[in-house]
Amino acid sequence: MHEMSLVISILDIAEAQAREANAQAINRVNIEVGALAGVENEALQFCFAAARRDTMAAAGELVIEVIAGRGTCRHCGQDGPASELMALCVACDEGTLEIFQGRELRVSSLNVD
Ligand SMILES: [Zn+2]
Repeated sequence: MHEMSLVISILDIAEAQAREANAQAINRVNIEVGALAGVENEALQFCFAAARRDTMAAAGELVIEVIAGRGTCRHCGQDGPASELMALCVACDEGTLEIFQGRELRVSSLNVD
């Protein structure tokens, strides 16, 4: 499952940041996941629950903020919503969108003790 390797890197990043802050434990890991990132949020939660054991986040929770997809039309240049990677422009209905938002997956903040 590719979500498992994502969760392991999320935990790596979170632990590195927590150590830098001299924290004892991670209570919450806030992440931003683009709607077009190709990631199942339920699978992320499932993997997090399994992978957090033996980490500083052993009792921590994962909070996912979904970032909507957006792109710029290659035809008319308008920015618009993208519900999929090959979304069509809603303004002109002719161009495909150059996606600039919605593919990210990053740790946005931590709550630590
Ligand atoms: Zn357009």
